[in-house]
Amino acid sequence: MRIDIATLFPQLCDSVMSESIIGRARKKELFELHCHQIRDYTLNKQKQVDDYPYGGGCGMVMNAQPIYDCCQEIIRQVTEQGLERPHIVFMTAAGQPYSEEKARQLAQKSALLLVCGHYEGMDERVIEELADEEISIGDYVLTGGELAALVVADSVLRLQPGVLSDPEGYQEESHWDGLLEYPQYTRPEVWRDKAVPPVLLTGHHANIQAWRSEQAKERTRLRRPDLWEKYQKDHPPEPEKKRRRK
Ligand code: SAM
Repeated sequence: MRIDIATLFPQLCDSVMSESIIGRARKKELFELHCHQIRDYTLNKQKQVDDYPYGGGCGMVMNAQPIYDCCQEIIRQVTEQGLERPHIVFMTAAGQPYSEEKARQLAQKSALLLVCGHYEGMDERVIEELADEEISIGDYVLTGGELAALVVADSVLRLQPGVLSDPEGYQEESHWDGLLEYPQYTRPEVWRDKAVPPVLLTGHHANIQAWRSEQAKERTRLRRPDLWEKYQKDHPPEPEKKRRRK
């Protein structure tokens, strides 16, 4: 997979994506990631990328042209490499809410282009012209789209083969199957008078699985009634099998 990020802060994105699990996977070339400076595509001497909003109001709006030209160059590079035209996502506070399900969908794409706004946002016309979709990472406003793009890139890239050391690791985690994860414990067995739940020390795999499944359901029910309702709808209890007559 190839991910491109169009941003006014390519170094910020590049440095985050060079650390830890994602950074190691990047070094191993398990995916490609490129960060592009939108400012390089301005046509004015001052390299200005924003202007006052039509109709008045506070702040500045990013011009359509440098964003458009930057994305066109990225599309050119990606297709020249023999990949499909990238799926283009604009990071906006007004986009569709992000989720693990969306991460899984995006992980299927061979190329993804994430576009980051700044200031008061981007001229709507460039979004209309290029976006396959707009994504918001939550109901709050960030100063720029970089953190949002990094959230999307991280959650998509960890699903790529080889990125996590245990290939099935992510299937046990919160949101994979619509539930929150069960509580986790590590050594020591007792810490500040708190003991690890005894079942986890038994080595009895089936009992441990049953306990974890119960904990995951209970946590989801208590902490996220919205998710619990959806989970119950998606997993109706199996009808009891009729007893066979003798
Ligand atoms: N005026 C915009 C609004 O009210 O919707 C907010 C602009 S925000 C200050 C600047 C940039 O940060 C946006 O263009 C977008 O790229 C990014 N951004 C802010 N909040 C975001 C969120 N929740 N999800 C994704 N991107 C966000």
